[in-house]
Amino acid sequence: MDRVTALADTIERLDLWHLSLPVVSRRDHGIGSVGGAVEVVVVRLTATGGATGWGEAACWSVFTGTPENAYAALDRYMRPAVIGAPVGDIAGVMARAERAVAFSTDAKAALETALLDLAGRGAGVPVWALLGGKCRDAIPLSVSLADPDFEADLALCARLEADGVRIVKLKAGVQDHAFDVMRLDRLARDFPALDVRVDYNQGLRPDEAMRRVRDVDARGPAFIEQPVRADQFALMRRLREATATPLIADESVFGPEDMVRAIREEICDGVSVKVMKSGGPRRAVAVAKMAEAAGLSAYGGDMFETGLGHLAGVHAIAAAPGITLGCEFYQAKYYLAEDILAEPFPVEGGMVRVPDGPGLGIAPDPDKLARFALRSTVAA
Ligand SMILES: [Mg+2]
Repeated sequence: MDRVTALADTIERLDLWHLSLPVVSRRDHGIGSVGGAVEVVVVRLTATGGATGWGEAACWSVFTGTPENAYAALDRYMRPAVIGAPVGDIAGVMARAERAVAFSTDAKAALETALLDLAGRGAGVPVWALLGGKCRDAIPLSVSLADPDFEADLALCARLEADGVRIVKLKAGVQDHAFDVMRLDRLARDFPALDVRVDYNQGLRPDEAMRRVRDVDARGPAFIEQPVRADQFALMRRLREATATPLIADESVFGPEDMVRAIREEICDGVSVKVMKSGGPRRAVAVAKMAEAAGLSAYGGDMFETGLGHLAGVHAIAAAPGITLGCEFYQAKYYLAEDILAEPFPVEGGMVRVPDGPGLGIAPDPDKLARFALRSTVAA
């Protein structure tokens, strides 16, 4: 059990682990493939008195950045912004971290999550209470289908249905269009009760995007996500105007600054909100509020995260009424060979349960950190 800390106590230690975590299968996405293992960086802050707070940077080199970058950003460049700061000075620490390092949203997400976890434990309240309070107790879970072996994904769908999961997202735009259409038609035939979404992860070329997206649009998925490159705002807008299916922006919108532009240029009907893109739970909630104010829908996305990274997103979604399309926190239960949390990440009946304990509600198991570490910087 963690010791209680006062918000005026100061942070005296920052420890880091770079983990390599085995996964159960290969996954293909429009921007790249993942297989064998995924790598994350875990940070632990310790306050005078001994209380701790945990956070995770879930990195992907083709999306947010590399684990080596996140590790160095935290270890060398953000450490001076943290050490000696009062536990409750979350906004101050993050403002200094923002000035110390450009980009590196995954490292900033790890730091802010750890600050919120520590402050929540100090105040005896959940992180969602520090983000404005809770509007839901459970979040519908969506699981992504990206196995190049579609038969394996069909077997996963049978398992998901038995577990009560009602939403899947098909990763498309990697192989040819016929493969995507075949999978969509097969899912509609074999799993008619599943809500099917489509995510291209920027995979379509400009010259093919309109035809392929309109063809998928005719099949009526729940939404179509990021068909083209993140910076192709004008093409995103044209695709949105040409289709009846809601178009969702993911890679085009990292933080509130991108959301301003996405709203102004009308590129999407909804947005994927991710703590790892926005640079922390507070900015993720800000993106969700902006989307809601502009009349856009939102869901809670993830990277290749452990249950620790998922928890940061769960508390943000709990505090963001506009995130009505569920979450994708499936890695801990359905993709990692073994998660790092000391208790199972809370998924039941296709819903992620929002923890009510102090801080994030669950902490990592230190033995697992030691077992999966490629390297660590832990003070004696
Ligand atoms: Mg996506």
